[in-house]
Amino acid sequence: METAGTDDKQESAIRVKIWGARGSLPTPQTPSGLEFQIRRLMEDYYEAGDFSMGSVEQFLSRLPRHRFGGFGGNTPCMEVMSGGESVIIDGGSGIRQLGYQLMGGPCGRGAGEVHLLFTHFHWDHLIGLPFFVPLFIPGNKIHVYSVQADLPDVFKVLFKKPYFPVGLDQLGAEIIYHQLEPRKEFTLANMKITPYELDHPDPCWGYKFEAGGKVFSYCVDTECVRVSAEELGPDLPLYQNVDLMIFDAQYTLLETIEKVNWGHAAASLGIDIAMREGIKRVVFIHHDPASSPEKIAAAEEQARRYYMSQIKSARRSGHKTNEIQWSFGFEGMILEV
Ligand SMILES: [Zn+2]
Ligand SMILES: [Zn+2]
Repeated sequence: METAGTDDKQESAIRVKIWGARGSLPTPQTPSGLEFQIRRLMEDYYEAGDFSMGSVEQFLSRLPRHRFGGFGGNTPCMEVMSGGESVIIDGGSGIRQLGYQLMGGPCGRGAGEVHLLFTHFHWDHLIGLPFFVPLFIPGNKIHVYSVQADLPDVFKVLFKKPYFPVGLDQLGAEIIYHQLEPRKEFTLANMKITPYELDHPDPCWGYKFEAGGKVFSYCVDTECVRVSAEELGPDLPLYQNVDLMIFDAQYTLLETIEKVNWGHAAASLGIDIAMREGIKRVVFIHHDPASSPEKIAAAEEQARRYYMSQIKSARRSGHKTNEIQWSFGFEGMILEV
């Protein structure tokens, strides 16, 4: 099966690229915010007093992510690659840039065959689709997958006047709809993939990917109100034997209390599940559109304090501790599993 946009030199069993890490609404950098950041960086560089050759690079390399680069403003889109093929999760605004990359695929003529899984149909997971260039190119085959039965209706609404000038029947590519069975494994792009249900105000499905003995679980958007193994029931396997989990951390701990039923979690919840289930690595995304880079960094620091306190109390009480590797994710991040 021809699928473009993957790196032939991939050595890991699964590689994941985050094309959008922001939740709810695309969040571009404001001119005043950018001016503020540049001014502060220039002042700090001047204060450091080293103007020798290479000093700019050295100065920048010491800065934390929230001060240089940030977390990105595009809404969720993941590229999951294995054995030279790939699948995409969700069509948030991050899919626009991925579309340009796919168009540079075999012979530069187009994307060929594309496989696009949907978790759910909230706007932030669809909004990039009208700007996903492979959809407009004759000869391309765009396979779209969801557990929900109404995926064809979603496309009819997205590509319809007066919301968008190009109608569904005018798109150049062929769109092929696939309805997935809940919790039933299927094979795609050299990976076994299984959908499991998340906790969100509208039905939302995470995915577990398995290849070469490695496991990647995608658990966004979720409030994860079912936490214990008993509560998770048939969806517990999403969190078991996992090497890498991408989890929802839209809110701080306090915000999750204020925003019950809003459908999103805090990093501490993902840390709890990961420590209990022995998940090796967790990356947190779906950052709140109202959060500045500084606020996201503060939430990461809060999560770090929480994680350290959990480790300490487990050691004190003599319980086995599963130490995990975790961080907040950002647009452009590549994860090897
Ligand atoms: Zn979302
Ligand atoms: Zn949602």
